[in-house]
Amino acid sequence: MRDPRFDILFEPMEIGPVTAKNRFYQVPHCNGGGYRDPSAAAAMRGSKAEGGWGVIFTEQCEMHHTSEITPFIELRLWEDKDIPMLRKMSDRMKEHGALAGIQLAYSGVNGPNLYSKEVPLAVSAQPIRTFTNDPVQARALDKTDIRDLRRWFVNAAKRSKEAGFDLICLYGAHGFGIFQHFLSRATNHRTDEYGGSLENRARFVNEVIADMRDAVGDTMGITLRVSLDETIGELGFSNAEVREFVDMNRNLPDLWDLAQGTWEECSGPSRFKEEAAQHDLVKGIHELTDKPIVGVGRFTSPDVMAKMIKSGTLDFIGCARPSIADPFLPKKVEEGRVEDIRECIGCNICVTGDMTMSISRCTQNPTFMEEWRKGWHPERMNIKGDSSNVLVIGAGPAGLEATRACAERGYDVALAEAGTVLGGRVARERYLPGLSAWGRVADYREYQINQKPNVESYLDSELDAESILEFGFENVCIATGSKWRRDGVSRQHVVPFPTDDALPLFTPDDLMDGATPAGHVVVYDDDHYYMGGVLAELLIQQGCRVTLVTPAAYVSEWTLNTLEQYEIHRRLAGMGVQIELNRGVTAIANDHVETNCMFTDQRRAVECDAVVMVSSRLENNSVYQDLKAREAEWADAGIKSVRLIGDANAPGPIAWATYAGHRYARELDGEDIGDALPFRREITELAVD
Ligand code: ADP
Ligand code: SF4
Repeated sequence: MRDPRFDILFEPMEIGPVTAKNRFYQVPHCNGGGYRDPSAAAAMRGSKAEGGWGVIFTEQCEMHHTSEITPFIELRLWEDKDIPMLRKMSDRMKEHGALAGIQLAYSGVNGPNLYSKEVPLAVSAQPIRTFTNDPVQARALDKTDIRDLRRWFVNAAKRSKEAGFDLICLYGAHGFGIFQHFLSRATNHRTDEYGGSLENRARFVNEVIADMRDAVGDTMGITLRVSLDETIGELGFSNAEVREFVDMNRNLPDLWDLAQGTWEECSGPSRFKEEAAQHDLVKGIHELTDKPIVGVGRFTSPDVMAKMIKSGTLDFIGCARPSIADPFLPKKVEEGRVEDIRECIGCNICVTGDMTMSISRCTQNPTFMEEWRKGWHPERMNIKGDSSNVLVIGAGPAGLEATRACAERGYDVALAEAGTVLGGRVARERYLPGLSAWGRVADYREYQINQKPNVESYLDSELDAESILEFGFENVCIATGSKWRRDGVSRQHVVPFPTDDALPLFTPDDLMDGATPAGHVVVYDDDHYYMGGVLAELLIQQGCRVTLVTPAAYVSEWTLNTLEQYEIHRRLAGMGVQIELNRGVTAIANDHVETNCMFTDQRRAVECDAVVMVSSRLENNSVYQDLKAREAEWADAGIKSVRLIGDANAPGPIAWATYAGHRYARELDGEDIGDALPFRREITELAVD
């Protein structure tokens, strides 16, 4: 069973009046569903309860209507009507003995109030500080407002109790919560007893915690979430000042929840941040307090977790993303199945659900947020259908997940891969700068497949329609992936544009195959996700001079949604990449490319020795098309179904491929639902006028 090295992770610990059964602490995290999809969010938290987490939190919950962060979709506790939705969530959290926590947020200078239309209230009068620079300013709280706000917190605490929660987290991290706004001189310019000295700036949080203790402290634990360093230098709530604050207020909350910096820093992607990246900032804080500490750091390794506790650095292992990628992480450690942990790859696709106000996905865990919508359990598949075998063609993320999940359901699976390794695009992209952790997508699945007696994998096996018909499997799943286009067709150009063959032109596939351009290379990025930026970095490493041209206003624009864009620009600029924004490429001549301004169409020649075209991808679907053309022969060959999935169907990020693979396995032999909606949803109850 459990390795004794990890026993320490299973020791109970008190948080104020309540006791956590172990040290696995799911810190608050968004999910893109929130108040719009409450049952989906509740079921997602429920899967963590079943997976053995000792503490499970909600995402941030807007505790009063005078401070809200529309368009982002989190939770709301504005009136009693919100209680049943939250109770449903806490019920699910507590089903297996976990403590249920709610994170109460008053967004202050971070809340533009686009929905409630209230004038934002902040510690000091300032422009609203949001991702979108909303043209709104907040007015400063006066003394009456502060009294009101204290009362609103108490009201929210009482409602939280009624909703069944054991823990309340007061949000003061990431620049998002009012407690930080009071504590930091960057957002607190007050000259009254709430501003100036650290003691004054800490007054509000002391008052709120005292009020809450009176109201609910006999039964509920109160935690405080602050960032270890605001990361804006001396003016902000620096690590030195955080230490001073903890030291001065040793026993203020029942637990210190130590996050880091802005959200971008706290949820740093693996491209920029290692596991346990905050270690130096959190080390030693334990000695300043008698209360337990939880800290985060994309922990996926039980060894690192145990070390953090044994060394006295942390008492609880805080996880958001690792708990998304594997809700059963604690259970797997407990059952001695560490090698079955589905490790987070640090891609931040989960964050994009929140940033795009859709419902979140996870690259590693396709069941995330589908627990209720589709009834997908993160560990258990539905029972096997009538047929008995599947041929999966292509071992990229889609094919690997389809293989793993079909085998889990009990089908005999043959996996044929043209190449010499499993992993498809991931087997190549993992060697690009900063993307090595992405290899876990393939590693996890390869290991799982190797454990299954009902899977046979065949490498070096490029199949065509003829061979597929000869094999005669009942079900054929085609996951043959995609190739980067060479003709530049993407968004700026919907049809090919003039290119002179005299200038060496490379696609991302060429570079991943080992081609090495030399001299001055123009990277034309009309894809806008990570690939253009990553290849610019690769080329600099290989000694090229690089100009990155993109029609977008930002380098790797879509990575605004994965919280990476700022770091990507910083890294590329720091490496000497010449960045040309809002410019497209209109022609490729023998010794230069012609670029154009996206606003004025003003043209300019950029002399260069080579071009890397990061445009869009073409589906590798010829095997599918050939097989389709011979549909009349399927029955004789014993074929009942043929499906095209993943990038071969429509190219997308890796998470789209694992989702497609999983969905294929779930729905194999399923009933035909016709025109019915393939997932459950909740719709707003209509008011009686
Ligand atoms: P996805 O992201 O949809 O999983 P990938 O491009 O990562 O797609 O993976 C597709 C895999 O399919 C690649 O490893 C490729 O070598 C393999 N493949 C493509 N065509 C064939 C084929 N005809 N027979 C077997 N394997 C193939
Ligand atoms: Fe980790 Fe990526 Fe899944 Fe988020 S989407 S939990 S970063 S693997």
